[in-house]
Parts: sequence; structure tokens; C-alpha cells
Amino acid sequence: MKVFQIACLICFLVFMNCDSTKENSEMKTEINKKSFANQYITILGIAQDAGYPQINCEKTCCKAYYDGDEAKKLVSCLGLVDLKSEQKWLFDATPDIVEQTQILKDKHLDNGKVIDGVFLTHAHIGHYTGLMNFGREALGGKDIPVYVMSRMKNYLKTNGPWSQLVALNNIELKALENDSILALNAALKITPLLVPHRDEYSETVGYRIEGKDKSALFIPDIDKWNKWERNIIEEVKKVDYAFLDASFFRDGELNRDMSKIPHPFTTETTTLFENESIETKNKIYFIHFNHTNPTIQNHSPLRDSIQNLGFRFAKEGDNFEL
Ligand SMILES: [Zn+2]
Ligand SMILES: [Zn+2]
Ligand SMILES: [Zn+2]
Repeated sequence: MKVFQIACLICFLVFMNCDSTKENSEMKTEINKKSFANQYITILGIAQDAGYPQINCEKTCCKAYYDGDEAKKLVSCLGLVDLKSEQKWLFDATPDIVEQTQILKDKHLDNGKVIDGVFLTHAHIGHYTGLMNFGREALGGKDIPVYVMSRMKNYLKTNGPWSQLVALNNIELKALENDSILALNAALKITPLLVPHRDEYSETVGYRIEGKDKSALFIPDIDKWNKWERNIIEEVKKVDYAFLDASFFRDGELNRDMSKIPHPFTTETTTLFENESIETKNKIYFIHFNHTNPTIQNHSPLRDSIQNLGFRFAKEGDNFEL
């Protein structure tokens, strides 16, 4: 009888243990699911239009890559992911779109689509030429939504090879309006904001991306902060993350007239925010680095000094909950 009772007790304990292990693992999965937001931004690239390394550059900036001291950097791009609705979008169609859509699929969401939509900022090579991969020679896409402002829309419709993407319905152009909210779904809202830039073929916009809890500002290209009708300090304060143009670190960085290709120098942005709180500075993540900007390199001492002031650097693979 005693032996039977002990056997029963052992069975009971084993059963209880199995059950609680199962419960524990279920609890863990639940926590893992909850520990990351359903909607988030992921950084898919940080370099200026021409990437890093840049074509034919024999200077120390790109030598660092060929010597194996720095990794290749993809062109400036944000991925927007909604795990709940199982959708994903790109902010800009860069020359690195093949790798960037693959990263989205492998590491974030495989929903059977290459992308649910693309938001374009403007018609400079790093921001829209990736669209060519949606065409007949490549993916042969079907009605891929491409969100654009009016001049950009007209440019794509009336100039080859882009007009063929429209004619063959590889892409479907969706019109955006300045400072007007587009609700992607119940959780995500997108607002384009016109910014001053060298607008040869299209206007240029930045984007405000709003989730249920947090929001972000993305301005990869702008001429100078003081040319904008909006106050960048106020715009940064309105959001949780601000991914801002850091094409050049300082004046004189290029051996050509830099006033012809104006951008806010990193040093100008940090000076502008000098007297703001550490919380405000912490919201700024620099992005869109020219190959000559020393802070594109992970091992740059200048990068450390800017971080010590409270500013941050966007890095491929970093995720930001919304
Ligand atoms: Zn650019
Ligand atoms: Zn270089
Ligand atoms: Zn540009």
C-alpha cells in the first residue's frame, strides 16, 4: 500500500511539474510577444544616396571599408512594420531595395508580399530609383502602392523608365497631400511635410509617422533648418524619435562649393539644439551620412563626442517601438 501511495505521489509531482513547465513556457512566449510593440520602425540603411563606400573614392573614408575596418552601409531607409495587421512599408525606394526588402522579410515579417507600400521623399537617386526592381525586368510587381506628392507623381508618370512601371501597373501611385494625415490602418498614421531642398524633378517631403503610443519624424534631406517654415526644435519636441539629415559633418568637407548642395551640417544641428534639454537631444538620431562625414564610421571619435552631447546615431537593425 505504501509503495502504491509513493508511486501515486511521484506520478502526481511529475504531472504537476510538466504542467507548470508548460505554463511557464506559455507565459514566456506571451511576455516575449508583449515585450515588443506590434508596430515599430526598423532602420534599413543610413548612408547618403550614393552609399558607403562611394564609387571611385580613394580617400581614407572609403579606404576604411576596403581595409576591412568598416562595414558597407546601405542607403538611408526606414522600414515600418505592423505585426498585428501583418503589413510592412518602406520609407524611400533606395538602390539597396533588394537587400532591404529581404531584411524585412527574414528578420521582421514574411507576409507573402515583397512590400505593402512605399513612401517616397523625393526624386534624388537614393530615394526612388529602387522602384526599378518592381518592373518587368525584375519582380514584375502588381499594383504595389507607391505614396507620392503631386510633382513626384507627375514625374514618375511622364518619364521613362518609371512611366512603364505605371503603364504596366507594376506600381500604383497614391497621391499624398502636404500636412495631411493618411491613416494606414487603425494603429498607424502618416503625414508628409514639405521641406526645402534642391527640387529639380520633384518636391521634397519628410514624414511624421505616428503609432498608438509613440511617433517619429523622418527628414533625410533638407537644405538648411532656417529655410524651413517650420521650427525644427518644435517639431522634434512633438515626437519621440527624430531621424534627421546628417549628410555632412561640417563645412569644407568636400572639395567643391558646398553652398550648391546645402544640408544642415551635423555641427549646425548640434549647435541649434545646444540649449535644449537632454531629453530633446536624445530624440535625435542622425541618418543619411555622406561617405565623407566621419561619423558614418562606427569607429569615429567624433561620433563619440556627438553622443556625449546627448545626440544619437541611427544604426542598421535598430528598432523603435511606436
Ligand atoms: Zn538624399
Ligand atoms: Zn569615401
Ligand atoms: Zn536629395
